[in-house]
Amino acid sequence: MLPFKIDLEEKVIVVTGGGGVLCSIFAEALAQCGAKIAILDLKEETAVKTADKISGNGGTAIGIAANVLEIESLEKAKKIINEKFGAVDILINGAGGNHPKGTTTKEYLYKEDLKDHSDITTFFDLDPKGIEFTFNLNFIGTLLPSQVFSKDMIDKEGACIINISSMNAYTPLTKIPAYSGAKAAVSNFTKWLAVHMSKVDIRVNAIAPGFFLTKQNEKLLLNDDGSFTERAEKIINQTPMERFGKPEELIGTLLWLVDNKASGFVNGITVPVDGGFSSYSGV
Ligand code: NAD
Repeated sequence: MLPFKIDLEEKVIVVTGGGGVLCSIFAEALAQCGAKIAILDLKEETAVKTADKISGNGGTAIGIAANVLEIESLEKAKKIINEKFGAVDILINGAGGNHPKGTTTKEYLYKEDLKDHSDITTFFDLDPKGIEFTFNLNFIGTLLPSQVFSKDMIDKEGACIINISSMNAYTPLTKIPAYSGAKAAVSNFTKWLAVHMSKVDIRVNAIAPGFFLTKQNEKLLLNDDGSFTERAEKIINQTPMERFGKPEELIGTLLWLVDNKASGFVNGITVPVDGGFSSYSGV
């Protein structure tokens, strides 16, 4: 499944959210290049499942329950990783996502919806807790693991951090103000951290995946008969390549960004992998 192989022999890589759809594929690809992978996820069973799959295919991995929003939980995970694998070389900050309470029902505010709207969430009904959850998970959940694991990386050859941003970081997507703002913060922080870490040789870059049809979002994008929903149609119409991405199409960018030989002078960028979505104005 790898588009090409890079040499990650003896590298220790932490993948947060590694039990999830995209990051489990990232973890498997990095393991195939010889790295020792620590999969961190809030859900222990999914972390262990990804690790077992890697081990079953001859790779080296452990699954650890950890919360990217709690320093103590991350420190505990780091201790296990250091004892089992040694010091961390690379961090993939994959844990992230949206919350329904930070999401409006409609794309636009209409006057008539203000009268009786118990069945929809307007801008005025957005719950600060939902907004806070989304900001924390994506931004604080990127900052804290970076604090904890980059301590190991200082002056280690080929050390790097990869954050996961999104299309909504460039131009906000309708309905999801919190997730859009949080991912914009992730892209911004990627630049900040790249500058901050430049004297201790830790490169920091990000990937901004476009739209990938996965089990998790298929209900939003596909009707029961397999046809596209209205939102899916809008996405496809805005994507010059006229299709959704396949998760494995992110792997080439990931391997390029973690490989010091290939991208050793690339620092502070967010790479869109989006079939042209973020370049197209719609006209
Ligand atoms: P996913 O929900 O399958 O994976 C996210 C994982 O993070 C889950 O396994 C979840 O248990 C874990 N997680 C949640 N909260 C956590 C916490 N507090 N501590 C530790 N782990 C936690 O999602 P995915 O689609 O694979 O997305 C992975 C990343 O890619 C996310 O940052 C997401 O925002 C981003 N992204 C996804 C898409 C897409 O199309 N799927 C597009 C753009 C960006």
